[in-house]
Parts: sequence; structure tokens; C-alpha cells
Amino acid sequence: MSDRTGDGGDVGHVSLVGSGPGDPELLTVKARRLLDEADVVLHDKLPGPDIISLVPEDRREDVGKRAGGEWTPQEYTNRRLVELAREGKHVVRLKGGDPFVFGRGGEEMEHLASEGVPFEVVPGVTSAIAGPAVAGIPVTHRDHASSVSFVTGHEDPTKEESAVDWDALAATGGTIVVLMGVGKLPAYSAELRSAGLDPETPVALVERATWPGMRVATGTLETIVDVRDEAGIEPPAITVVGDVAATRDRVRAFLRSGYETEVGEGR
Ligand code: SAH
Repeated sequence: MSDRTGDGGDVGHVSLVGSGPGDPELLTVKARRLLDEADVVLHDKLPGPDIISLVPEDRREDVGKRAGGEWTPQEYTNRRLVELAREGKHVVRLKGGDPFVFGRGGEEMEHLASEGVPFEVVPGVTSAIAGPAVAGIPVTHRDHASSVSFVTGHEDPTKEESAVDWDALAATGGTIVVLMGVGKLPAYSAELRSAGLDPETPVALVERATWPGMRVATGTLETIVDVRDEAGIEPPAITVVGDVAATRDRVRAFLRSGYETEVGEGR
């Protein structure tokens, strides 16, 4: 609902809301309420079809990939958020997972602040933890991993000034969770091996976690690229590298996630 200023202008506000990984039951209670209350919801495809369809079409705008495959420029989204708020609207900016985990939510928040638009942040269940979890993979485990790193696979890890230090990650001995890591899997799996990780290190790919048609494919640092290709794994998917990825195999017979419709086998 909008804040009424009483001085001629109705000042709206923006809620930066995490949608969780895609299952509507993993929306927070607050996110669910805000989706009902908002005048308009700006979203991309990442919240998934089940959650997006909770919002009537005349109350939502897609600011994700356009028909031609081009991304809506971030500047447009920023501008649109400010414009709608200045019209007095309560705007929900719905972001997949948690708004501040690789979602450019931080940039959007700073833009709103710099334009003097009031906002709130509503955390969400990040796919980085929930994706592995529903596949039977705990990102930490007392026996197997005492740390976890969340990294982007999107950039080219061979470029000189890579922001991701794969050598340092390999040295942690902990779990490595890669987001946006389907396309560059061959590059960073090779980087991790040359950084000294055992080629037998378990790796899992969790595709469309908690969406209809979720799939999980497992392999090792050595086999995972072939596994990806054979199963045809596509974004959005989470890559989990580390001993915890093998937990799935030990528990799978009893795992009742209710999500998977298909399973890729890597080993
Ligand atoms: N803010 C999001 C991440 C945005 S970056 C979050 O917290 O989850 C986009 C990447 O997130 C995708 O490339 C993929 O790696 C991951 N991702 C998001 N939702 C996913 C899902 N339902 N299943 C698998 N991966 C997902």
C-alpha cells in the first residue's frame, strides 16, 4: 500500500522480494502477502512459472529476457521501479531466490536510495542452499565440509583478472556452490582440477530446483561435463562441488522431495 504524503504527491515504495527457488510453498509468508498487496510486480523468469502465475497478468511486468533473447537492460528496470513508485504505486520487485545473492538486488537498492525512493528488503530462500537441499545434499556437513563458498560461474575463469579465485576456493577444502555455472562448467571444472582438487571429487547439478520438471545429475570433476551434455542440463542450475555432493547417493532411496520427474545419472 502506498504512503500518502498529503502534500500533493503520493509516494509509493518498492519491496525487493526474494521468491525462493520456485516452489510457491517456499515463498515466505511475507513475500506471499506482498504479492497479493502490490499494485505492480516486476519480475523476470527466475521465480519460476508457478510463482509468477500467482500474480494476475494485469498486475505484473516481465523485465527479464525479451522475445529476441535479449535481456532488458538493468537501467530500464531501475528507471521503471522509480517511475512506478513516483506514481504512488507499491511496487514489488520479485527476484528469484534471495534478492541479494547474485541477483543485482544490491544495485537496485542503491539506485532506489539515490533516487530517494523508500524501499524494504524481503529475504528469500536462496537456490544456492535450497537447490542442493532438495536433492539430498547438505551444503555443510560435520564430516565432509566445514565451509561453503557461493560463486558465480558466469565469467570466464581463464581471463586474467577473474574475480573468482578458483585456486583459493580449491584450497578451502569446503563445498563450492556455483550459480550461473552451466555454460562455463568445462572451464571451471578444469581450473579446480589444476588447482589440485581430486578428479574423483563428487559434483552434482541441480536443474530447475523445486520447479516442475526438476532434474539432478551427478558425476565427478572428471565426468561432470559429459554428464551435463548427456543429460542436456540447462540453466537455471546449481553446481555443487565437494564431498557433500555424494551424500545424495547415500540417502536417495528414501528421499521424498516430491519434485523430481527425471534423474540424470553420472556414475
Ligand atoms: N538470487 C538467486 C540467484 C540469481 S543468479 C538466488 O538466490 O537463488 C541466477 C542463478 O541462480 C541461476 O543461473 C542458477 O544457477 C541459480 N538458480 C536460481 N533459481 C534456481 C533454481 N530454481 N534451480 C536451480 N538453479 C537456480
